[in-house]
Amino acid sequence: MNYLPQSLQKIIASLQKLPGVGKKTAERFAFTLLDWDESILQSLACELADLKKNVKACHECGCLISKTSCTFCDSTIRSSDTLCVIATAKDAIAMEQTGTYDGLYHVLGALLSPLDGITEENIPFTALLQRVEKLGAQEIILALDSTLEGDATALFLKSKFEKIGIKCTRLAFGIPIGSSLEYIDENTLSQALKGRATF
Ligand SMILES: [Zn+2]
Repeated sequence: MNYLPQSLQKIIASLQKLPGVGKKTAERFAFTLLDWDESILQSLACELADLKKNVKACHECGCLISKTSCTFCDSTIRSSDTLCVIATAKDAIAMEQTGTYDGLYHVLGALLSPLDGITEENIPFTALLQRVEKLGAQEIILALDSTLEGDATALFLKSKFEKIGIKCTRLAFGIPIGSSLEYIDENTLSQALKGRATF
């Protein structure tokens, strides 16, 4: 029998949906929230309620924007010579933390994964190519995870760009095999970016 009030049980069930949060951790979080001032809880509730409304994807690059202007696309100091292709918008955070990249981004939104039904037709290459042509980008940097899906997608994009004579590089050493960008420290990622090579 669960003696906890139903609203607390609901909070625990919701928190358990977060990555890496098990039942015990969710319970600890829920009891911590119970100790917070009501004003802080109200503020958090408002932020969560408006999250989808306040955070959108940029129509050009797919990175996250708070209103209508994009930190990257609307920048006058970032170079459009290089376009960094990332799998998801959160990968831009890791790239920016290196402090060594001043080009633009393009969120691919999907990686090849035939077992999950994601084939070459599901990779939005046409949109990527149109953006490359519009920007006049000279180099495409593939900053994709070093996983089976990331590798397959990188090879697919490389062959496509090679056919039309556009330079295509990929982040090189420094990334442990099988890891995701979000778990890599900024120094390692910075080295990987500097050491990128054609492949
Ligand atoms: Zn943008």
